[in-house]
Amino acid sequence: MVLHRQREPLELRDVSMPEPGPGQVRLSVRACGVCRTDLHIVDGELERPKLPLIPGHQIAGEAEDGRRLGVPWLGWTCGRCRYCTSGRENLCLEARFTGYDLDGGYAEYAVADERFCFPIPDGYPDLQAAPLLCAGLIGYRSLRLAGDAERVGFYGFGAAAHIVAQVARHQGRRLFGFVRPGDDDARAFALELGCEWAGWSDEAPPEELDAAIVFAPAGELLPTALRAVARGGTVVAAGIHMSDIPSFPYELLWGERVLRSVANLTRRDGEEFLALAPQIPIQTQVEEFALEQANEALDRLRRGEVLGAAVLRM
Ligand SMILES: [Zn+2]
Ligand SMILES: [Zn+2]
Repeated sequence: MVLHRQREPLELRDVSMPEPGPGQVRLSVRACGVCRTDLHIVDGELERPKLPLIPGHQIAGEAEDGRRLGVPWLGWTCGRCRYCTSGRENLCLEARFTGYDLDGGYAEYAVADERFCFPIPDGYPDLQAAPLLCAGLIGYRSLRLAGDAERVGFYGFGAAAHIVAQVARHQGRRLFGFVRPGDDDARAFALELGCEWAGWSDEAPPEELDAAIVFAPAGELLPTALRAVARGGTVVAAGIHMSDIPSFPYELLWGERVLRSVANLTRRDGEEFLALAPQIPIQTQVEEFALEQANEALDRLRRGEVLGAAVLRM
């Protein structure tokens, strides 16, 4: 499924078989998760994709030697810059991203730099494994950057939150879910996944929070979340794109509250998270689409209709 121009639907096309370059592996794609980032790329909110582009950065595939490998968003880094050499390859200025700078997994075959692929943990069928590769990984990084907070609020309960909720509960944290006002299904989903309270995003939680993670791409939620956290609390913006943040009184930040973003992932995040996932064990709830239904999957995600994660199956 190929993006020729932003703000236009993807097109089903026959393309030539991708040939692996040095250090790359060719995968037969079994499943590919659909991420909100894909939507930001298709909708033109992320402005510099390669074109034409095959999107998709949560690839569960099989190599020619039979290994099951996952391909995440971080597809390549320079390995030499001050970020790469200090454990922060997620910030590399020359980084290339799967399904943005590099063709991704909305296809039958993909090539990827083997150094950036992860072995898929045993016990995870392809469909269930795919959402671990971005929603899971970057969600996990967001939770780590929230510190050792006991009471954690999630704003937006989509693919990432439904995975990270399971990690947070496993770590003994108390969870509070915030969903779009009136979205009863999402509220019930949040409660099902271990939130002790779930309500609308414009509501105050029943008690102060120690941290909040804002998964929804709505800038107005950042002041709202700051208002909900106690002194010393952290608000993490987990998405790659967000609408503008309205101005807010300094008092909301005062008291050593921290407002920060999370960018991409490091390979270490991936190794840690994929080792942890089977121990919990994390279960992903998936809505399955055929490859040629990619536009429909993106539309459902855009309208907030997917419970859990949307995944294309090849
Ligand atoms: Zn993603
Ligand atoms: Zn670098």
